Amino acid sequence: MSGWKIGLVGALLLGLCACRANPPPAAALRPPDDEIVVCGQRFHIGTPVVTWEQFPGYSFYGKGECFVGGTRDPEALRAQVDQFVLHFDVCGISRTCYRVLLERKLSVHFMLDVDGTLYQALDLAERAWHATKSNTRSIGVEIANLGAYPPGQGRILDEWYAQDADGPYLALPARLGDGGIRTAGFVARPARPAKVVGETQGETLEQYDFTPAQYAALEKLAAGLARVFPRIEPEAPRAPDGAVARGALSDEAWKDFHGILGHYHVQQNKTDPGPAFDWEDFLAAVRAELGRTAP
Ligand SMILES: [Zn+2]
Repeated sequence: MSGWKIGLVGALLLGLCACRANPPPAAALRPPDDEIVVCGQRFHIGTPVVTWEQFPGYSFYGKGECFVGGTRDPEALRAQVDQFVLHFDVCGISRTCYRVLLERKLSVHFMLDVDGTLYQALDLAERAWHATKSNTRSIGVEIANLGAYPPGQGRILDEWYAQDADGPYLALPARLGDGGIRTAGFVARPARPAKVVGETQGETLEQYDFTPAQYAALEKLAAGLARVFPRIEPEAPRAPDGAVARGALSDEAWKDFHGILGHYHVQQNKTDPGPAFDWEDFLAAVRAELGRTAP
């Protein structure tokens, strides 16, 4: 067998046997399409996704671990994955988020940049390190956003947002250049112009909203995940008054919950995705995408 054939067979064997350090065999580089990758299979979701195999994608291979059981069997995976956890990245842009996660030896399946580009950094067969006890049963997304702060204490919000006649927009510090944002010249404006003030985890916080492009992409991603993993319901945890819960769930409620939740629903020391995240509009859009009515 010639050298390159041995290399090819070796690469294929590694792809089949090693769930951890080696990504599945890389596809040829190609422009972003609209597919997410699950157990090596591709599923259309209707919004641009740059995978770890593509340029300029991000990869956590070597940083994550397999789901418990190390399965690459789609049926077993469907039985296991029943939560989709939303985070804000407190970095403002996905390129920085990726670097910070690497430094902190963390990982996540998706990063969602301000222009609505989704970056998939692991096959969804892998377990990512993003949400403690939910890691073994969840898919995670880090949404680019500077985060939420007690009113008046978020100096970075005033430093990073400028104003023009159309309202506030993200004005990156010069040292970040174009921030690696895929859409050239993209102007990132929050979906609602004023800082949103609200309660999360018993604390009053203020935050700039996510961009309309981020909501649009997230809705497509959540609907796509609900199709691939039918145990992920298009619903969030609810408080007794029917509103989306604003704090961490009890262990029992967390165990029973199969759907979309914020990091703050999983653990008490987190506030993401923060008070600005528009749960009701988002969930209604995901249900509409799936052709389902409100529960
Ligand atoms: Zn988080």
